[in-house]
Amino acid sequence: MIGVSVNKDRFFYDIHSLVKAFYPGENVSCFVKGEKEIVSTAGSPSLSVDLREEIGEITVTLISPDGAGRTEDTRCLPMAEGERISSIDLQPVRDAAGERQYRAKNALKRLLYRMLSEETGKRLPWGSLTGIRPTHIPKTFLQAGWEETAILAELTDTYFVSEEKARLALEIAETERVLLSDAEYETGYSLYIGIPFCPTTCLYCSFPSYPLGMHQAQVEGYLDALESEMDYAAGAFRKKKLYTIYVGGGTPTTLTPAQSERLLRAIEDRFDLSHVKEFTVEAGRPDSVTREKLEVLSRHPVTRLSINPQSMQQKTLDLIGRLHSVEDVRSAYHLARECGDFHINMDLILGLPGESARDVAATLSEIEALRPDDLTIHALAIKRGSRMQAMMETKGVSYPEFEDIEAAAREARDAARRMGLSPYYLYRQKNIAGNYENTGYADLKKDAAGLYNVLINEDVHSIVALGAGAISKCVRGSEVSRAENVKELSQYLERTEEMIERKRRLYGSSGS
Ligand code: SF4
Repeated sequence: MIGVSVNKDRFFYDIHSLVKAFYPGENVSCFVKGEKEIVSTAGSPSLSVDLREEIGEITVTLISPDGAGRTEDTRCLPMAEGERISSIDLQPVRDAAGERQYRAKNALKRLLYRMLSEETGKRLPWGSLTGIRPTHIPKTFLQAGWEETAILAELTDTYFVSEEKARLALEIAETERVLLSDAEYETGYSLYIGIPFCPTTCLYCSFPSYPLGMHQAQVEGYLDALESEMDYAAGAFRKKKLYTIYVGGGTPTTLTPAQSERLLRAIEDRFDLSHVKEFTVEAGRPDSVTREKLEVLSRHPVTRLSINPQSMQQKTLDLIGRLHSVEDVRSAYHLARECGDFHINMDLILGLPGESARDVAATLSEIEALRPDDLTIHALAIKRGSRMQAMMETKGVSYPEFEDIEAAAREARDAARRMGLSPYYLYRQKNIAGNYENTGYADLKKDAAGLYNVLINEDVHSIVALGAGAISKCVRGSEVSRAENVKELSQYLERTEEMIERKRRLYGSSGS
């Protein structure tokens, strides 16, 4: 346990994320001084933070495990005349208090990063950036007309981002700008439909997922509920153009061919698809894919499939509860190529338990032989108290080392380049392995980038989301608000009308 005392209840998320990134195996707890006391365990450092942003001062004290301590201060005053403009000065802050907060947060993160880096001898690939969208900063600078070299310098000097990640973030920001150049997107919307059934539940799963064998009897009722939600969405958004559709989950290909036919027909009957540029169906688990199901998808305007091996190492698939073979992945992929003209995405996960960089390299050479159009590289996010964590403790399987994940991420990037795939979107999650990121690579010459991924990541327009656990997003200019459907399946089935009402409140009757 690492205890972090702070003189006021502020910036806990940023402090926690940064300390955790340096000490991934430790629990980190932030608390307000005087309200409670959390003592670091023996062998762990402790930190104390004093924020005096009203006078532009911040002090951090770090006590090493051997008891040695040091204190450093930083200043965070508004920009003086003639001072170099930084990304902080380009952020849309509403008032002087907001600006003070923003500057204080960034100054605190820079100071913390420096002190923790000296203490541990580590440098984090994303430096002091803790947010989910590190491409936001280069994007802001590109919009402000900055030169590439100045943007790279800002990322490496101000935020301590490694040069490799700075170049990646800039490349993605430039690609996203091209992908989103059609300004019409801002006035349209996207549709998400979640199918929460899977052949079995993978140990690392953080999505709504119910093993099909135990919930077969609820599938038709679930499709009824989705159709009710579709009736609402089609009516509310009738004046807006629908640009992308994403059927995710769960595993949509657990539906029988007849159920898939019913779902796709229901979408086509209700929505105007004439502006749709991308229609994705996740076929995440290869053990759910059959020729008959793929033929149904190919008879409808589905353009993109996602077949997700996660790893091509059988020992790993067995360990993480995937219950399918490496050969299943190959067969599902070849079948999909035979059955339709789909862009095929494949997802891999770095940082899976027991996997070395060599295992990842072997997986990547299998994927290179298949040549998907789009490859998404995730870094594993393990939640505290998850089944995955429990399994690792029971079986004594260790979490991959920081260096192993770094080497694996480099292997993945090089393999994607060899396949002619370029990075086009990137986001980070909490508890992500090695403070890394999830990156989508695609064959941009074949127009294979997953447009939905970019639209949702950049909050370009509203996403109306249907199904258990689906989160709808309403984007009005720079304001983003959300409405969440209940995750629990039977609750969703019983309370479908309430879920529709939540969306009605979010969007209003016109979907605006
Ligand atoms: S296939 Fe995906 S949604 Fe289903 S259990 Fe595995 S991780 Fe979860």
